[in-house]
Amino acid sequence: MHCPFCRHSDSRVIDSRTSDDGLSIRRRRQCPECGGRFTTSETASLNVIKRSGVIEPFSREKVMSGVRKACQGRPVTEADLAMLAQTVEESVRQTGASQIDTNEIGLAILGPLRELDEIAYLRFASVYQAFDSLEDFETAIGKLRADHAR
Ligand SMILES: [Zn+2]
Repeated sequence: MHCPFCRHSDSRVIDSRTSDDGLSIRRRRQCPECGGRFTTSETASLNVIKRSGVIEPFSREKVMSGVRKACQGRPVTEADLAMLAQTVEESVRQTGASQIDTNEIGLAILGPLRELDEIAYLRFASVYQAFDSLEDFETAIGKLRADHAR
């Protein structure tokens, strides 16, 4: 990490803290050459392994577009989707893994989506879990009902 003041090629970390959203680490650094202090922010890389085997960086936008389809006609705003995508990113990052597959993202989406809108949840689950009969819907609805009754 080059010093932004004198371009010295080395710096010393004097303090590290995790950002409020838990997604990055901020480091307070000091240049041993000129004594200048500066802050850097580092985000751990998180990659997604697609079913095709292709690896690409995790994208909140992709999470949002996947969920957006399930939310058509539902009272779900873009802000809700952005919040959901953030929750999903936080939960997959909390596992500490640097690579996850799309299946795990789907799983991470189900919980918060269910909180957001149960119809959208059922639609998403029906695609993601490949429901192929009315019984699959009945089972999923039954679980929702059972949880309501609690
Ligand atoms: Zn310096």
